[in-house]
Amino acid sequence: MNEMILKFPSKSENEVFARNAVAAFLLTMNPTLSELSDVKTAVSEAVTNCIVHGYRDAEGWVTVRCRTEKDVFRIEISDEGKGIENVEAALQPFFTTLPGEERSGMGFTIMQTFMNEFSVRSSPGMGTTVLMSKAIGEREERNAG
Ligand code: ATP
Ligand code: MG
Repeated sequence: MNEMILKFPSKSENEVFARNAVAAFLLTMNPTLSELSDVKTAVSEAVTNCIVHGYRDAEGWVTVRCRTEKDVFRIEISDEGKGIENVEAALQPFFTTLPGEERSGMGFTIMQTFMNEFSVRSSPGMGTTVLMSKAIGEREERNAG
């Protein structure tokens, strides 16, 4: 078991910082390049959502908690921003509350595609937490020898 917690202000440049910090932590699990890239993509989408939607034009703290349990990597990404009115609707592909601002409404769909487990906890005015996990190191080449 290993853990790490990151907390940073919702500045757009911190999306790259968070993605690479999580990648550095994940490297301790000896992931494949594809696993590493999947996790980085999911982190990038979740952190961007905190910055862009959670806090909009304001600034607040984004927290990233990572944990490894044997071959499973778990991550929680949260903000204390405006929250989501209707989580079920927000999870639909192409649903966005910021159309016309280069948002395509695919962030949650991408997270679900690249990670094994995914869930969202949110309430209006209280903030949002995305919980995800992924099995790391279950490589096909290992079976293939
Ligand atoms: P894209 O991710 O493709 O740029 P998007 O961010 O709008 O577009 P999703 O990431 O799927 O799409 O999010 C869907 C919607 O859920 C958002 O438009 C927003 O309304 C809401 N949402 C997502 N994350 C948060 C958050 N952290 N705080 C508040 N609302 C959020
Ligand atoms: Mg998004």
